[in-house]
Amino acid sequence: MTLSATDGSAGHGPHVLEPQPDCVQVQWQAATQAEDRRRVLRWTCECRPMVYYLVTAGGQGYIERTGPGAATVQTARMRHVQVADLWELIWLGRAR
Ligand SMILES: [Zn+2]
Repeated sequence: MTLSATDGSAGHGPHVLEPQPDCVQVQWQAATQAEDRRRVLRWTCECRPMVYYLVTAGGQGYIERTGPGAATVQTARMRHVQVADLWELIWLGRAR
């Protein structure tokens, strides 16, 4: 999986699958100020209460989660290959 902005369409990404019983706990932390050149490469469907975004900035990536009534949270910054793997785990319901 390579990180490009070629898939997904504005306003309607894929639906995150239900969390699996053995899903990994993602270490969410309070969102920090956006860097320059922040780019959202992938996002999940905005019709769901929680929306996940795969963001790249400054040569690293992270995942951001927003939801009604909840503060925006993010993962730690990580390498692109790591964030791509984590994105897939979240999307498949294997991490949450
Ligand atoms: Zn939807």
